[in-house]
Amino acid sequence: MKAARYPVLDINLDKIHENAKVIVELCEKKGIYVTGVFKGAGGMLSVAEEMLSAGCRQIASSRVKQLTDIKKHHEECETMLLRLPMQCEIPDVVRYADISLNSELNIIEAIEKECREQNRKHKVVLMLDLGDLREGFMSQEELIDTAVHIEADMKYVKLAGIGTNLGCYGSVKPTEDNLKQLAEAADKTEEQIGRRLEIVSGGATTSLPLVVEGKIPSKINNLRIGEGILNNMDLPMLWNINIQGMNQDTFLFTAQIIELKEKPSYPIGELFVDAFGYTPHYKDMGIRKRALIAAGAQDFGMYDKLIPIDGDIKLIGSSSDHLIADITDSKKDYKVGDTISFKLFYGPMLFLCCSEYVRKRIVTEV
Ligand SMILES: *Cc1c(COP(=O)(O)O)cnc(C)c1O
Repeated sequence: MKAARYPVLDINLDKIHENAKVIVELCEKKGIYVTGVFKGAGGMLSVAEEMLSAGCRQIASSRVKQLTDIKKHHEECETMLLRLPMQCEIPDVVRYADISLNSELNIIEAIEKECREQNRKHKVVLMLDLGDLREGFMSQEELIDTAVHIEADMKYVKLAGIGTNLGCYGSVKPTEDNLKQLAEAADKTEEQIGRRLEIVSGGATTSLPLVVEGKIPSKINNLRIGEGILNNMDLPMLWNINIQGMNQDTFLFTAQIIELKEKPSYPIGELFVDAFGYTPHYKDMGIRKRALIAAGAQDFGMYDKLIPIDGDIKLIGSSSDHLIADITDSKKDYKVGDTISFKLFYGPMLFLCCSEYVRKRIVTEV
């Protein structure tokens, strides 16, 4: 048998497909179609393909490069760029994204110009900032004025709709109240331009609780879902929302133990800063049995968002290339060369998918 290579990230495409299907059907019942967001899986093409075959109507990413890959393999797939376009990437935005989220008129004008050169059409969704304070117009009036201007004066750029984003920077919760403001802005925009908008996009995974609770304003007809489909950790673990038929074991990370020793739990010597310039808090718990694991912050970003499958293991720290685990309370008798597996929150999922040092292994159930 060929020796296994670690660290390895197992990706279960069938379970991602099942999750996408459940979310698509749940949203469909409320008149909402789903845009599948695959940036959290590092833009893996096969993940986008599962989202599409499960009924997601578009594929979205914050990175133009990831949309390029989709277009190369699935010309017919409608793509959406989530991050506001950089000025320097506009030619590729026009070429590879059918839709982009926007809040700057200068950029939209540059898109119009580029479209004319490429003789292509491009759809824009204007973003309204409802308090999360990342992207978007702060006032409805300014958004509506921009919408009217695009509608009246632009030939290649089409106003597809409006949208919002919450729970990303400002950790603001989507609620019936703040999403009603989006619905209201949509109504007013439609009144001004004299037609219905194609897209009223009410946010990301964090808007799903409102769908489940039946509180999402009926005006909203689109959600852009990544995390909720990909690993479905936030809704059950942070929001206490359990959607029937959803899998959590879509991603599994496994790394190998390279040292096992009993060591004090409090560092010896004068404390200063760690590998990244921070001074963490250390608790003296006496001598503990510790496993040194060959994977680090470079691979998974933040160790405190890894969840060991062996629930008696406690993760106590990491540096660029190492993870340190307290295994004193584990019932298993670990040896050097054994492996430890983890479930992942969004952060580590994103980092691990993007790391070229982590082997990806597609798991399919036959
Ligand atoms: C990343 C992103 C999403 C998807 O977020 P999830 O939490 O993964 O569902 C939606 N919209 C925008 C603008 C994003 O940047």
